[in-house]
Amino acid sequence: MPYVHDTLEALRKSSPAQTEFYQAAEEVLECLRPLFERSPHYLDHSIIERIVEPERQIMFRVCWTDDAGRVQVNKGYRIQFNSALGPYKGGLRFHPSVTSGTIKFLGFEQIFKNALTGLPIGGGKGGSDFDPKGRSDGEIMRFCQAFMSELYRHIGPTTDVPAGDIGVGAREIGFLYGQYKRLTGRYEGVLTGKGLDWGGSIGRKEATGYGAVYFAENMLAARGETLAGKTCLVSGAGNVAIYTIEKLQELGATPVSCSDSRGTLHDPNGIDLALLRELKEVQRTSLEAYLAQHPGARYIPAGDYPADGHAVWRLEGEVAFPCATQNELTEADAETLLGNGVTCISEGANMPSTAAAVDRFLAAKIAYGPGKAANAGGVATSQLEMAQNSSMEQWPLEKVDAKLKAIMANIHRQCAETAAEFDDPTNLVLGANIAGFRKVADAMIEQGVC
Ligand code: NDP
Repeated sequence: MPYVHDTLEALRKSSPAQTEFYQAAEEVLECLRPLFERSPHYLDHSIIERIVEPERQIMFRVCWTDDAGRVQVNKGYRIQFNSALGPYKGGLRFHPSVTSGTIKFLGFEQIFKNALTGLPIGGGKGGSDFDPKGRSDGEIMRFCQAFMSELYRHIGPTTDVPAGDIGVGAREIGFLYGQYKRLTGRYEGVLTGKGLDWGGSIGRKEATGYGAVYFAENMLAARGETLAGKTCLVSGAGNVAIYTIEKLQELGATPVSCSDSRGTLHDPNGIDLALLRELKEVQRTSLEAYLAQHPGARYIPAGDYPADGHAVWRLEGEVAFPCATQNELTEADAETLLGNGVTCISEGANMPSTAAAVDRFLAAKIAYGPGKAANAGGVATSQLEMAQNSSMEQWPLEKVDAKLKAIMANIHRQCAETAAEFDDPTNLVLGANIAGFRKVADAMIEQGVC
């Protein structure tokens, strides 16, 4: 269909050097071809040209003072991509690799992910090239205050509600919220991932990891299998990875790995979660320190990774949970995983598998849950936090977790049913993209040209 090709070409020209965004856009648009053949009215409304263009992109300078008294300058971003289904919703990422293209790809993915939750939330994303590593609490606070000093004028509880992502956890959300409150004088649900004593939702910090595991459970159940007794590979050692590991252990599976930007840890006896949390959440140190208490484990420094991929995917396991970052799982990694007998992949991270790796998984017809479906539990629970804030209630964990489970089951059902409707029943990438797109596109058409 030349239409899809033309749109992608136009994007490459109008938004140069945004390779991650082209990758995300291409995956979605290619999946939509069969939909456009059956429902050409989407083309008449120019929906694809409109949906790849953010409604608004904000870029700003963030100046702050480090502990030595030097003025530091970073770039800040917020993309308000699509508000057809509700206020913009999506996290903030603080990482030195962040560019406008990174935020754009994440914001684009967020549109369809949020649509799949069935909740009234549009797509947005933001962040900065600020590197929190090695910074004192005081520096983190001053950076967050400077970042919010510009962002506050663009967000609000019914317009745009940011949350955390890589490098933005409870500490950063606290500093950001404090500055928003100081500048506006308003105590309102403008951020999610807040502390439990000041407007946060029980179960939010666990939600992305737990949700990715629930999604895997649903995929396996459709094939008559369970997670119990399975050896699982997990990458990452942050929020998503930690709660993925926690839920896997609760369900009787054995997660044997985790990783950070410096290296990969393999403990064939199963990851000692309490120690992992102490190392990453309290000491904020290298995974290598794990070996002092578990000499039977192995640490592989990033310098020793295979040239064509990542050490974590060269380990043996039956189910894999990529939970670190984009494009962390290559085609060669996919080949190794398949060769080692992996039957299920549930993506906690956003776009962790390269396009070629995804093609391998789809061709092998294993249970493959793309990030926009499998990690939607985080944003869904953020919306539950918004609902609690606006009704001034706090729900118990059982209620939040029951809702999360139901949402993940519903996302899986939508993806599987839509994939079957388009005669490709094991292709949950196709199912997720068409099901998410249809909701957003139908709302855009009903709301007229805007
Ligand atoms: P965290 O910052 O808590 O953890 C990120 C982890 O990934 C860290 O262990 C980090 O290692 C590692 N990592 C980050 N960048 C790289 C890199 N370039 N190479 C190797 N390792 C890296 O982030 P989250 O756990 O919140 O997010 C992880 C993924 O999940 C991201 O893709 C995010 O977009 C996605 N996600 C998160 C949600 C949430 O609710 N938090 C919701 C939905 C998706 P190190 O500390 O050494 O940098």
